[in-house]
Order: sequence, then C-alpha cells, then structure tokens
Amino acid sequence: MGTSVPRRLAVLGSHGIPASRDELASAASAPAAFGSSGWPRLTDTLGRRYTYLRLSVTDRCDFACVYCMPPGGEAEHAVRPELLSFEEAARLVALFAQLGIDRVRFTGGEPLVRRDIVRLVELVRRQSGVERLVMTTNGSRLSELAHALSEVGLTGVNVSLDSLDAGRFAEITRGGSLARVLAGIHAALDAQLEVKLNIVALGGLNDGEAARLVDWAWSLGITPRFIELMPLGEASNLSAERFLPWATIASRLGKRIAPEQAGAAVAGQGPANYVFASDGSGRKVGFITAVSSEFCGSCNRVRLTARGDLRACLASRGAVSLRDALREGASDRELAWQIHRALGTKLPGHFFTSAEVDEHEQVGMSLVGG
Ligand code: SAM
Ligand code: SF4
Repeated sequence: MGTSVPRRLAVLGSHGIPASRDELASAASAPAAFGSSGWPRLTDTLGRRYTYLRLSVTDRCDFACVYCMPPGGEAEHAVRPELLSFEEAARLVALFAQLGIDRVRFTGGEPLVRRDIVRLVELVRRQSGVERLVMTTNGSRLSELAHALSEVGLTGVNVSLDSLDAGRFAEITRGGSLARVLAGIHAALDAQLEVKLNIVALGGLNDGEAARLVDWAWSLGITPRFIELMPLGEASNLSAERFLPWATIASRLGKRIAPEQAGAAVAGQGPANYVFASDGSGRKVGFITAVSSEFCGSCNRVRLTARGDLRACLASRGAVSLRDALREGASDRELAWQIHRALGTKLPGHFFTSAEVDEHEQVGMSLVGG
C-alpha cells in the first residue's frame, strides 16, 4: 500500500472493506483501495456470502391475500417515476452480478402485473449475464406469459397456491380465481419452466389440505414448499391459531415423508430445507421455517425493492436508495460501495419472536418483495 493511502485504511479489511460494523457506519464514501484489485464479492461482517438477489418489480397486485395485504389492497403504491426503470434495474443487476450474485428472483407485489415484464426479464438476462433467473408469482397471468418468459431466459417459477378448493382459494386471496392459476401452472410446465409451489400454511384454514396439495403437486412433477406464516405487515394482525410450525405441517403429511427424513432435511439454494419422500422416489417437500427455526445465519439473499431501495433483510426497515444514487449520477464503483456498506451493517437475525422488536410488523411482503 502506497504512502498516499489515507491512514483510516490501515484498519480496513481486504479490498478496502471495513472489518467491523462501526467502521462501515462511519465510512461515508468509498476509500481509495475499494475495488482497486477487482470487485469484492458481497459478504458481511459475520461472514455471510451473498449470491441471490430478489428483485421486486412492482408493489401492486391483483390479489390481496389475507396474510399479505389489507382488504382492498395496500392504500398507497409507487407511481411510475418512483419505480426503477427497466434500464436502471438491469444496470443494477449487472452490477450485482459483478459482485457475485448468480441468481435473480423477480418478485413483487405481483411481478406479472408490471407492464412489459417480459422485456425486463430479457434485458436483465442480456445485460447481466445471470443465467439463473426465476420468479415468484401468484400465477394469475402465467397462462398468457409463461411461454414468452421462458423464451427470453426465465428458468423457473414459484407459484403461490394455498388451496385446491376454489372457494377457500378465493377467500385466502380475496377474490383470486383458482382456475386461472391452475391454467397458469400448466402453461408454465408446458413452457419447460421449472415449477415449484409455495404454500403458506394457515392453521384452521388450509392445513387440512396439506397432504392433498403435496399429492397434487407430485402428480405433476412439482415440488411443494410450505412456508411458515411470518408476522409481517398484515399477517401480524392474524390470530395465533393461524401460525403453524413446520413440524405440525410435516405431521399432516402422514407416511409421504418418513419422520426420520424430517430430521435429515437438506438445504436448497434459497431459504427452504427439503425432505425426501419415504418411498425413495426422490420427490421432495420443502419447508421454509422462517419463524420456528431461524435460518438467518446462512442467509445469502439481498433485496431490491421496486422503488430501488436496497434492503439487507426482509424484516428490517433499514434501506439504502440505490435509485437515488443512480439518478444523482453515481458510478458503478460508488454504487458497489453503497451496497457493501448496506450489507455490512446487517444484523445477525430477524427478531420475529421478540416481544420488544416489532419493526417487521410494519412492512408487508408485497412492499419489500417476498
Ligand atoms: N405475488 C407473488 C406471489 O404471491 O407469489 C410474489 C410476491 S409474494 C409477497 C411472495 C411470497 O410471499 C408468496 O409465496 C406469498 O405466499 C408469501 N407471503 C406473503 N406474505 C407472507 C407472510 N406474512 N408470511 C409468509 N409468507 C408470506
Ligand atoms: Fe399479492 Fe403475492 Fe401478496 Fe398475495 S402474497 S397479496 S399474490 S403479493
């Protein structure tokens, strides 16, 4: 290191990245050494490595699920100029890719209600070079869009489906059409997209359907994943009986998965742990145990909201506006520094079960990007 390097850098870690949260908080602009020997990979001060970006493309939705939005949907939405433009989003994903992100999930709100979503996926694929592009969707518009999305490089969809009963489905989604979602799932399979099912387990509402949902998904070659209800936004107003720990859901699946298998769950690339079918067929059930068994220690995800706020954690309100930085003319180096700083201050866990911390209760999934 040359003599012209500021003294402060003496305490910085590799690539000029501060070694502690305090250093990160005080380091406002990028030190000279940052990026001088290539872009540093995204890691935080606890050693977690970030490879997976969840990109929210809208805060709007055509459903208003009881655990996600108030009746009638969220009161306020970003207006078009507040949203990241497609070009801005693609530039940021390309930058994230240089920082080690190799998997991008488009989400929302409902990503398929963003106009020209196919063009966005195509632009991100072309500009960032990221090959693993997936989407989480409620499926309501998949029958029209699945083939086009597949053609421009989308590789998979996680479709949210909490019930196979049309009445209950409409109740949970506040008006969603089961028939449209099922048609969307078939279109996605037909378009060669890898399909997974996201099921939010709701005690007293759909937990009696757990086995039926697994059988149905397996019959189509789809992996079902049960998500523990998280006390975010609207869900924090639901009664305690709605919250089911994953072990209770697993017990509803009878002999489909062997009890000893449940203890031998294997980690996936995202937040789910997978348990294999007891019949040796290789089929799986996923469990996203966000509440009963926190997985924050192995978190590999960064979130970018539709407004361009970088959030290090789903449960935290802390955010850095990459959109504003971009619009003020920030270089890639400056943006990369801001991303590192935001992640460096990430806390070890989410406090979902803490009586003192209720920050997460003020942010619904549709606003952060689930
Ligand atoms: N609209 C799309 C959908 O529903 O798939 C994508 C966005 S949605 C916010 C992403 C995922 O978050 C969905 O699978 C949804 O079921 C889940 N989700 C929403 N609120 C939740 C909560 N409070 N707890 C657990 N999962 C939740
Ligand atoms: Fe919309 Fe998805 Fe939230 Fe349901 S979970 S209201 S589909 S964003």
